[in-house]
Amino acid sequence: MSKVVFDRVTKYFGTAKAVNNAHFTIEEGEFFTLLGPSGCGKTTLLRTIAGFYRQEEGDIYFGDRAVNDVPTHERNIGMVFQNYAIFPHLSVFDNVAYGLRARKVSKKEIEQRVMEALELVELSHLRDRIPSNMSGGQQQRIALARAIVIRPALLLMDEPLSNLDAKLRVKMRTDIRKLQKELNITTIYVTHDQEEALAVSDRIAVLSEGKVQQIASPQEIYLYPQNRFVANFIGTSNFITGSSKMSGASSAAVTILEQQTELPLLKPHAGSVLFSVRPEKVGLSVERTPQHRFNGTVETVTFLGDKVSYEVKMTSGQTLEVHDHPASAHHIYKEKQSLYVDLSLEQSIMYDGAGE
Ligand code: ATP
Repeated sequence: MSKVVFDRVTKYFGTAKAVNNAHFTIEEGEFFTLLGPSGCGKTTLLRTIAGFYRQEEGDIYFGDRAVNDVPTHERNIGMVFQNYAIFPHLSVFDNVAYGLRARKVSKKEIEQRVMEALELVELSHLRDRIPSNMSGGQQQRIALARAIVIRPALLLMDEPLSNLDAKLRVKMRTDIRKLQKELNITTIYVTHDQEEALAVSDRIAVLSEGKVQQIASPQEIYLYPQNRFVANFIGTSNFITGSSKMSGASSAAVTILEQQTELPLLKPHAGSVLFSVRPEKVGLSVERTPQHRFNGTVETVTFLGDKVSYEVKMTSGQTLEVHDHPASAHHIYKEKQSLYVDLSLEQSIMYDGAGE
């Protein structure tokens, strides 16, 4: 029942496609995140699920039932927003009870279900407090309790943690994930924060300009970004251009930074290529080795506690970001130091020249 299917869904504002041909399924019980930069269509997509917007093309199904013409209040969804949207003058208890009263649930059952929801978000001891003098984190917990108390088939969350400070955001996202697993409720979560998305999701859909770029698990999205946009948006990537000449059915002679390397290819490709090399995959050494065979000079050294971040200028003129975990302070390289660089090309992703 709580599976959500998008069948070629397009939503226009004027002539612009805010959602462009969305075609995927969110599985029952899944924590599914819509991730992308501002304006990519995350909120619009969420609002079509809620029924606040009607798509111009395509169908949305909850389970096997098309919900295109089902009004929001009949879709059985719980919603949590960035700005909490709770009633400041009602007590915590009454805020959470609101949806149940509107549904004419009996007084006894309301008491029991509200207390159950408040216990789940660890707020039962504050049931009689007024939200206006409570912290942002507590107010967001009230909003969460209010969303789950109606036992929705689907939980929709739009940037729910954006107004909280960094430390509280991390605690709340862990709590939300725990609660979602406990209730086994299909959850669709909107964020522009890649770390948050990686931390909580079963799967992530990365969006750009209304279009889905990739849908995959956090690990897959990070390790195997499908195109340049995803590689650039999730984590940090060094992009290095080169060229490829097929030397066998599935291998190529690739020229990169004026050196040639034989590499296996997933798909045959000759012509210009683009490597995405993660900063933590780049190796540095004072000695030249078969792997450390590109020349570079340290431009900047930034000590970040758990790692050291370097900017290394290659002889081609390109500057690479490199992350290293030095064994001791002696192993930290100095500015202007000449080094040999291992680009770990075998562990990097090679795209065609267009970054696809
Ligand atoms: P943000 O992270 O900034 O909230 P978003 O990814 O949620 O962004 P949307 O709010 O879905 O993006 O907007 C997608 C596109 O549709 C944007 O170009 C936006 O300007 C446009 N848009 C959104 N709502 C409307 C509207 N009511 N009328 C006209 N255009 C809109």
